[in-house]
Amino acid sequence: MFEKVLIANRGEIALRIHRACKELGIATVAVHSTADANAMHVRLADESVCIGPPAPKDSYLNIPAIISAAEITGADAIHPGYGFLSENARFAEIVRAHNITFIGPEAEHIRVMGDKIAAKEAMRAVGVPLVPGSDGGVSSMEEARAAADKIGYPVLVKAAAGGGGRGMKIARGPENVVEAVSTAKAEAKAAFGDDTVYLEKYLERPRHIEIQIVADSKGNVVQLGERDCSLQRRHQKVLEEALSPALTQKEREKIGEIARKAIAKLGYLGVGTIEFLYENGEFYFIEMNTRLQVEHPITEQVTRIDLVREQIRIAAGAPLSFAQKDVVFKGHAIECRINAEDPRTFRPSPGEITYFHAAGGPGVRFDSAVYTGYRIPPFYDSMIGKLIVFGDDRAHCLARLRRALGEMALVGVDTTIPLFIRLLDEPDFQKGEYHIHWLEEWLAQ
Ligand code: ADP
Repeated sequence: MFEKVLIANRGEIALRIHRACKELGIATVAVHSTADANAMHVRLADESVCIGPPAPKDSYLNIPAIISAAEITGADAIHPGYGFLSENARFAEIVRAHNITFIGPEAEHIRVMGDKIAAKEAMRAVGVPLVPGSDGGVSSMEEARAAADKIGYPVLVKAAAGGGGRGMKIARGPENVVEAVSTAKAEAKAAFGDDTVYLEKYLERPRHIEIQIVADSKGNVVQLGERDCSLQRRHQKVLEEALSPALTQKEREKIGEIARKAIAKLGYLGVGTIEFLYENGEFYFIEMNTRLQVEHPITEQVTRIDLVREQIRIAAGAPLSFAQKDVVFKGHAIECRINAEDPRTFRPSPGEITYFHAAGGPGVRFDSAVYTGYRIPPFYDSMIGKLIVFGDDRAHCLARLRRALGEMALVGVDTTIPLFIRLLDEPDFQKGEYHIHWLEEWLAQ
């Protein structure tokens, strides 16, 4: 096992990784920007290194500074968390070239899955069903138009390098193709420095269903069921549930097995998530994330498996501590992403948290790095915590969620807590009857 792990991240995920390390008897090194000198991940870590000014490109994305921090402190592994460098294949290679273990998959798998066109091709080859679309990128407007006509409208123009819901545009008819392609290309160029785009059939009322998988270096692959992440705003997840209220047991087993077999054929190592859209009983692959996800705790709650602990053990060469037959789902879990934002306009609300008290009691977990007196810096993501609630079944979970949201006290900044309280009164949500556009439609009412 590792002796010392450097955590190349900040906020709640840095803390989550720190906690898993401590429970494994591993020392931790925090890295931070000058804006995060007083952050909780820095306070709790055994050691910390300042790696640069506030802007992510100068600190949390600054590869030479992070490698130097690992060398100076003698860390034997680096955990990238999510976001920042977690899906940067070059970073994984550089870490390994310095004889430091990268806690994540092979660089080649990160690279293939990071290019959504290559990812779809790789998944097709291992028997995974795809969203119908263009075969590869479209290089001219004529090609885009021909592909769109063939797929049938509406079509979605997507960036090959996409992430965070950026670089996605709908064309409702042939007359919109030119505009959708040019705006998607411009957005993709600005966000990712790569303007390659491809087309997909735009599904009108699907759910977002993703399968958590975990694979060790001995060839064992286990799937840990699905998460339903259909409640989204601007293609970004807002609330997630495990398991999905929409799948039958038969569908669950079918898609889990497709995912497990695909991962085994790909020879993938570590934790990963295969994302699908689900409509009218059919699953369609959209992308794979080669890292830990924000919403991993709901899977932990229903399987009682510590995913981060498992991820670290696997990276150290240990076999999985369970087999597929040991995975038994129990109860229901929901995660609410609590953002420092106005709950109606979604404008970021950085500033000082003058008073903080977390909900607690049975079945409640709050993954966060905030504290009373903490000043939320304006430079990073506005997500400041995740309220994760577990119940014997969905109804029990919803009752607990209502109780827990009422206990939360976060004063000094606006948060999205009131949004979740309102959502709990909504009959469609109570029944679990929603799709990926439902939340935006509801918010627009
Ligand atoms: P990103 O990497 O930017 O998150 P994804 O491919 O994972 O992009 O898609 C994010 C979200 O966008 C999905 O969860 C879904 O809501 C929506 N989306 C993606 N592809 C389609 C599609 N073909 N039809 C309808 N919605 C889609």
